[in-house]
Amino acid sequence: MRRALCPGSFDPVTNGHLDIIGRAADLYDQVVVAVFVNQSKSSMFSVEERHQMLVDETARWPNVRIDTFHGLVVDYCRAHDIPVIVKGLRAVSDFDYELQMAQMNRGLAGVDTLFMPTNPEYSFLASSLVKEIAKWGGDVSSLVPPDVLTRLKGRAGTPD
Ligand code: ADP
Repeated sequence: MRRALCPGSFDPVTNGHLDIIGRAADLYDQVVVAVFVNQSKSSMFSVEERHQMLVDETARWPNVRIDTFHGLVVDYCRAHDIPVIVKGLRAVSDFDYELQMAQMNRGLAGVDTLFMPTNPEYSFLASSLVKEIAKWGGDVSSLVPPDVLTRLKGRAGTPD
């Protein structure tokens, strides 16, 4: 079975994430989407909420599974027998950091990284931007699924 991992913060999941997850689901037998738990990074949604949003939004792909993890991505890959990480590349600005990570992960554990060019529709889209716009009442309805939009509206005006 060919397995791939899509790791990230997903705070919250956006249409850009879902585009990459869906395309990965077409290429691999199983795709594991893992929510990275980072205690030092403040988030708008709890790990449980981020996990639930991903479960709901990926229900259309039967070969996608959602999990959470902390620590090194390559340790997660090793423990779950996953040989490849799939990452979306939005712009050249993503490339430097992603290339460094990919080379490090291959060196550390032989885990390869597949880069997928983002759908141009979403090349400017990041969770951080969505949160910032939503916080000030801006319209992000074309950037996130309807249920995520509802949750974002519930948080609008609340401090970090
Ligand atoms: P963000 O940068 O939005 O806070 P995450 O850490 O949750 O993102 O993102 C996890 C991964 O999802 C990123 O490393 C990237 O590969 C991919 N990704 C995020 N946003 C997009 C997008 N708009 N288009 C394509 N891929 C994306």
